[in-house]
Amino acid sequence: MRLGTFPLPHRAPSSTSNRLTVVDVLGLGPRQRVGVIELKVLQLLDNKVADFQGGSMELKCFEVCDATGQTALSVWDRQISTVQLGQCYTFWSLTTRKDGSRTVLTTTPSTLVTATTVVGQPSSLRLVTVTAEEILCGPATGVKIVAKPRCPRCHAGQDQLAIKCSTHRCERCSMLQRTPAYLVTYSGVLIVAPRDVNERSMALTNSVMGFVREFCVACNAHDGPALEETIMALPELVVSVNAEGLVVRFAPAVVVSEAMAECSQGDIPDA
Ligand SMILES: [Zn+2]
Repeated sequence: MRLGTFPLPHRAPSSTSNRLTVVDVLGLGPRQRVGVIELKVLQLLDNKVADFQGGSMELKCFEVCDATGQTALSVWDRQISTVQLGQCYTFWSLTTRKDGSRTVLTTTPSTLVTATTVVGQPSSLRLVTVTAEEILCGPATGVKIVAKPRCPRCHAGQDQLAIKCSTHRCERCSMLQRTPAYLVTYSGVLIVAPRDVNERSMALTNSVMGFVREFCVACNAHDGPALEETIMALPELVVSVNAEGLVVRFAPAVVVSEAMAECSQGDIPDA
């Protein structure tokens, strides 16, 4: 035997490196820290509101991959607006948990996300079946929007933040920070009256953020009542609602064709 020529695979144990790949993650147990990982966001699996530290927080679950494999990533609260389908990101400080036999990833309050260049994908991708969204068109007959500023460090909702002051001290962790650093998260209710169908009441979450960014650029994101007035003033809305009754996105019907084209793409990117 010529053992000397046998090609021994050489691979550094992942504990020596902060940077992991998806195949490394799949081999980890639950509650393990993942220092750095680059991921491509493939598909939205779920969007819901979960109870968290006495309040409620929005959660989006994505199917993600790199060249070595694919898994799922839960994105909480303030990072939701950062993570977009089809894009690639470097995530710093994630943790693992078990979803059945699969090790999946979740963001933590200290997670950082930065956009990155192309991340590879496995030669065959498994697309997960997702419950279809329903699209409703009609005027809003009622709306309630609660805009809650949250501490970017500890996530705590703030009751006393004054938007006109340049700084604000977090009501939980006591850190003094600049007011614009506090991120707004939304909750509320939207009632729409589609033609020939009964009124439908749906939960509004951070999809409000997308609406503000696209259609009310001049609005003060903290001003729930002003956003409510803007929505009620629209003659008709196009609303995409998921199986959980959450509004995934909504748009004025004047851009209906554009919005419908976007909705009909679903959540599976073309690539
Ligand atoms: Zn805080």
